[in-house]
Amino acid sequence: MKGKTFIIAGPSGVGKGTIIQALFAQQKNLYFSVSATTRAPRPGEVDGVHYHFLTREQFLRWIEEDAFLEHAEYIGNFYGTPKRYVDEAMDRGEDVILDIEVQGAEQVYQKRPDTIRIFIAPPSWQELERRLTSRGTETPEKVRSRLARAREEFSYAEGYNYVVINNTVEEAVREIQAIICAEHCRPAQRIALINGM
Ligand code: 5GP
Repeated sequence: MKGKTFIIAGPSGVGKGTIIQALFAQQKNLYFSVSATTRAPRPGEVDGVHYHFLTREQFLRWIEEDAFLEHAEYIGNFYGTPKRYVDEAMDRGEDVILDIEVQGAEQVYQKRPDTIRIFIAPPSWQELERRLTSRGTETPEKVRSRLARAREEFSYAEGYNYVVINNTVEEAVREIQAIICAEHCRPAQRIALINGM
C-alpha cells in the first residue's frame, strides 16, 4: 500500500526535532523529508542530513523548477519540502514525516487533503520560553521573534487532526505512534487491502 504523509507542525523550540528523532529510533517504515533552507547551518548540522542548505538564488531556482511541495518564509529565511523524495517514499509504501511550520502545512493540506496534520504544543508558554532560551543558538531578539511567532502558530492548532502536548518525549512519541497506527486502520485503506486492490 502507498504510504501516508504526516505533518508534524508546532512552534520552534517545542521539541519537534527531538520527538522525531526518538520516533525514528522506534518505528520502522518511516521516511524523514529533508527540507531545503536558506538559513545558515547550526553547529553540528550536516548538509543533506538535517537540511539541504541552499543560497537564496538556488532556492529561487528550485521554486521556478516546481521542485517544492510547499515553501514558506520563516523569520527571514526560506524553507521548503522537496516534492520528489516525498512521492518516491510514499510509492515505496513508507510513511513520510514532514517537520514544517504552519504556512507550509496549510499549503500541503490544500494540495493533498489526505495528509494527516499533527500539532505539537508545549506544556506551557513559560516552558517554551525556557526551551528556546536554553538552546542557546539564537540571539535574544531571535528568541523573541520565535516566541511571538509561536503564539501565532498556536492559533492554527484547532484546525489540525491531532494535538500532542510535549510533556515528555516518551509520551509524545507514544501518542504519535498511536496516531500513525490509527490512520492505517481507517476503512478505505483496510477494505482496499482485504479486496486485494
Ligand atoms: P529551524 O530554523 O528551527 O530549523 O526551523 C524553523 C521552522 O521552520 C520550524 O518550525 C520548522 O518546522 C520549519 N521548517 C523546517 N523545514 C521546513 C519546510 O520544508 N517547510 C516549511 N514550511 N517549514 C519548515
